[in-house]
Order: sequence, then C-alpha cells, then structure tokens
Amino acid sequence: MKCSRCGRDAEFKIRYAGLSLCREHFVEFIDSKVKKEFREQVRFRKGDRILVAVSGGKDSMHLLHQVNKIFGEWRDFEIMAVTVDEGIGDFRKQCAEVAEGYSKSLGIEHKTITFKEYLGLTTEEVAKTDNELAPCTYCGVFRRKVLNVFAKEIEADYVLLGLNLDDFAQSIVMNVTRGDVARLSRLAPHHERVPGFVPRIVPLRRVLEQEIRDYNEIENIPYVRRRCPYASMAIRDVYREFLDNLEKRDPAAKFSTLNFFEKLKPYLSVEREKLHPCKICGEPTVGEICKACELQQRYERKKSGIK
Ligand code: SF4
Ligand SMILES: [Zn+2]
Ligand SMILES: [Zn+2]
Repeated sequence: MKCSRCGRDAEFKIRYAGLSLCREHFVEFIDSKVKKEFREQVRFRKGDRILVAVSGGKDSMHLLHQVNKIFGEWRDFEIMAVTVDEGIGDFRKQCAEVAEGYSKSLGIEHKTITFKEYLGLTTEEVAKTDNELAPCTYCGVFRRKVLNVFAKEIEADYVLLGLNLDDFAQSIVMNVTRGDVARLSRLAPHHERVPGFVPRIVPLRRVLEQEIRDYNEIENIPYVRRRCPYASMAIRDVYREFLDNLEKRDPAAKFSTLNFFEKLKPYLSVEREKLHPCKICGEPTVGEICKACELQQRYERKKSGIK
C-alpha cells in the first residue's frame, strides 16, 4: 500500500476518502481537517480568550495539541485549559494531573474546578443515592453547567470541546431516537451568541475516534487511557455499537449523519430561540428551571428519602 500523496509506504487507510497515507501525510490530513473546522465554525479576533475543556482523555488532549499548534503563536490571544473534576474516586484526579502537566509543557494556563465547589456534590455521591438514573445523566448535565458558569467567570469568549465524529454522530442519533428536537437544535458549534451562554466550538467533529488515537501515538500526545468506572452504564454505548456496526458496511456513515444534521440545523432555529434564565440559578434554559437544577432537586429528594 503506497501513500496517495507521496508514493512512500502507507500506514493508514482512510476508507471514507479512498486514501492511503504515510505517517507524515496522515498528520497533515488530520491537521487540515481541524483547521478547516475552525475556519467554518468561528472567527477568532484579537483579544479573545478561549477556554479549552480538557478531561485528560485522548480527544481533549489532542484538541489542546491542535489549539497550541494553530494558535500558540498568536499575539493578543489567550488560551486557557480547564478540567472539571466530577468527583469519581481518584479517576478524574489522575486525569487532571495529566491534563495539567501537558498544558504546562505547552505553556498554557490550566485550572481544575470541581462539582463539589460549584454544586456541593460529587458524581460518586449521586450514583450511590440514585440508582434509577444512570450517573452519566447527572454528570453530563452538571458538567455543561459548571463549564458555562466557569467560562463566564473568567470572561471566556468561547469554550472548545474535544468531541470527535463518533461522539457527535452518537449525540445526533440519540436525540433523534428520543425525539428531542430542542436538544438536537442546541448541539455545538454555536454560531449565535445567546445571553448567559458561552458559545461552544467543536473543532474535532469531523475526526474519527480512531484517527485521534493514531495521531496521538504518532505525536506522543499524553492522555489517560483508563475509562470512567461509570462509562459502561451509559446508554451512549448502545449508540456507539450501532454506529460502529453501520460503519463496517458504509465507511461514510458517521459523516453522513453529521452532514444530515448540518442540513437540518437551519430549520431547527425556532427551537433554539426559546432559551431564558433558570428561575433558580439563572443559567439559560428552555423550561422554567434548568435541567441541572431539576436534577439537583431530584438528588436532594432522594438523599432525604422523599420519593
Ligand atoms: S462516563 Fe458518565 S459518569 Fe463518567 S465522567 Fe463521563 S458522563 Fe460522568
Ligand atoms: Zn505520504
Ligand atoms: Zn438552574
């Protein structure tokens, strides 16, 4: 197998694009996809402050690498990294250390914030108290809220998330099968500014999970390989398996799912305009109170033994 770009021995077969690539051209191929996504999703300006959410896993560490590679030399432009520690034993603590170490090596300021300090609880406590809802249902909602609150505190202009194509296609299909049009309409990237909400950018959304893994190996990007102990309880795994199976038959299946969503997005704008401040915490929401406050109330009820 020869590289489609230079004719040397190729190591990577890009089935959905009909390409074979050597290491060097594989890295170039991924870099150009990420740059293109940045161009399509956002126009950064001088003086902007961007916040990169880094869990310590392969995707967000890859994102940090890309951000540094593309914008590291920009003047009058601030890059900051944050890890949200949800309180899952020592799992995220270990992740936060790796994220902090890598950020420092790139000269990027890093901070760890916790559910405990922002919400007064941990995912572990919630998981022990409520055995009817999966911990991820709480954890994902709480993380989004804490990230948005922190981004506002530091006056960030954008939050960057390391969601890859696999994650993205899963979220689209998940929202479709749940019939959750409102949630589907709010998927990042966010092009308009909504009061109280820091726009989220997803520069890796056209990069497959496996491509990120391969790239990180080539470029020696550190990351934590350990999975969250609650990950297998997440419904997301069912969608992952479904899309992976589909991809075996149709290598472009995940891209087509994303492209379908992109075409649909303009028609969903009506749903997006319904955001207003939560009556309890003031965070933007579609209902009277936000999902995070709703879940927090549920947790408090469970904790005190009220059904
Ligand atoms: S897998 Fe679930 S519980 Fe674990 S960090 Fe992710 S959302 Fe939270
Ligand atoms: Zn090549
Ligand atoms: Zn709220």
